Amino acid sequence: MDTKFVFVTGGVLSSVGKGIAAASIGMLFKARGYKVTAVKMDPYLNVDAGTMSPFQHGEVFVTEDGAETDLDLGHYERFLDENLSGKNNITSGKIYSHVIAKERKGDYLGSTVQVIPHVTDAIKESILYGAQGSDLAVVEIGGTVGDIESLPFLEAVRQLRRELGPNGSAVVHVTYVPILDTTQEAKTKPTQHSVKELRSIGLQPDAIILRSHLPLEEHVLEKTALFCDVPLDGVINSYDLHSVYEVPLLLEEKHLLQVLEQRLFGTSKEADISAWRNMVGMKTEKKLTIALVGKYVTLPDAYISVVEAIKHAAISKGAKVEVILISSDNLETASDSVLKETFDGIDGLVIPGGFGGRGIEGMIKVLQYARENKLPTLGICLGMQVMSIEFARNVLQLDGANSTEFDPATSYPVISLLPEQSQIENMGASMRLGAYPCTLIEGTKAQEMYKKPVVFERHRHRFEFNNLFKQKFEENGFIVSGIFEPKNLVEILELKDHPFFVGVQFHPEFKSRPMAPHPLFQGLIAQALERSAL
Ligand code: GLN
Repeated sequence: MDTKFVFVTGGVLSSVGKGIAAASIGMLFKARGYKVTAVKMDPYLNVDAGTMSPFQHGEVFVTEDGAETDLDLGHYERFLDENLSGKNNITSGKIYSHVIAKERKGDYLGSTVQVIPHVTDAIKESILYGAQGSDLAVVEIGGTVGDIESLPFLEAVRQLRRELGPNGSAVVHVTYVPILDTTQEAKTKPTQHSVKELRSIGLQPDAIILRSHLPLEEHVLEKTALFCDVPLDGVINSYDLHSVYEVPLLLEEKHLLQVLEQRLFGTSKEADISAWRNMVGMKTEKKLTIALVGKYVTLPDAYISVVEAIKHAAISKGAKVEVILISSDNLETASDSVLKETFDGIDGLVIPGGFGGRGIEGMIKVLQYARENKLPTLGICLGMQVMSIEFARNVLQLDGANSTEFDPATSYPVISLLPEQSQIENMGASMRLGAYPCTLIEGTKAQEMYKKPVVFERHRHRFEFNNLFKQKFEENGFIVSGIFEPKNLVEILELKDHPFFVGVQFHPEFKSRPMAPHPLFQGLIAQALERSAL
């Protein structure tokens, strides 16, 4: 069967949940038995998201094959329960590098290389490559209609739609409907304008998802249908919900898929979403509070997969979790009493990944508190590295111990670079990236949680635990419970005399799914629940 496409565009505002809508559409097709994939097109000129600050662009999501991608790929993986790869994230940077490399090679010899057709052809090829092998590909175009940067992508979509034929693709436009405070009136004018803009590029939506704060009345949908020339059953209201995992259920209830499936496949199958429904409806009577102490907390999107992984694990244990984001900068000078006050009522702690020296001393303080007060703690990547620094300084009495990332001249470099990382010339795509096998050591908590001898986990870092210190750590109770055997690298550390003080050099959050929570997060939540019951 030829691959069918759903193109998802955005109008009016960004950040209204286009990624969640795209992921939900994919999930609902998969629930009908189709083989589904998803592609994100990002109009920025960075080749990948890896060189962007989390403050600007939120989390960098890492795939199994080590691509540093847009955070929407995280939504797709979580909703589709499929591993994606670098080919599922197309950027202008990738497209232009490819076109310019071909021009230098002489592949276009004699032609004037132009946005149309050369750039648009490269975009079309990338879309088809990303979609290869699937019955249905959801392709989300980043940004909002009207942006200069996204024009070549929309033009490529227009051309591709012609080539695919009338039943080969559908366009879903996601917009925002403001509701005025003064009159409680829902305004469709911005949606009308954005659809007008979309049509001027040659794209007529088959369905419009109206995002709104509150449920919209029927006449608002009727007006949108009339002015935007979309059948009424193609106008869907997706209002704010408690959890993003409720969105597919809402879209299903509003029959969005009937419109799309009829259009593309000429049928209307039953969806099997009972397991998903059970997950969303799971009783969560126990309450938990987890603190996430990091450097980028002013933009919560920077930790989106970590927060979702905590939620997945909590749901699986029948608990409702509140995740409190705390800036490690603010804790650098915190006294013991301030720490005690801050962490009073907190049942567990996560120290997530990050880069650069800012906020590290605050994390060290918090980790000392958590270690001494037996607060269940998971350190992820940078978090694991800072756990090692704290232990070296405060338990092993190695004064000034540090990572060479923060103090290149430290006398005790417990975290340092391997030779291959010290010779890096380009910053882009040059970290230790993607999935590597981690061998678990018999009789450790890690092995007990994973219940497997070897696991594959995703990496994104330059620095590593320095094996010169391994013996000292182990003699003092901080044991290595997972290693990357080929290079004998420390992947997991755990404290013996503590309910849960586990540091991992990789990012387990990227592999957690709502229907398949990650064992390490489940381990953390289990211990946090025990503590909260005390
Ligand atoms: N900055 C650290 C490194 O590069 C940790 C990276 C991370 O937390 N992702 O090794």
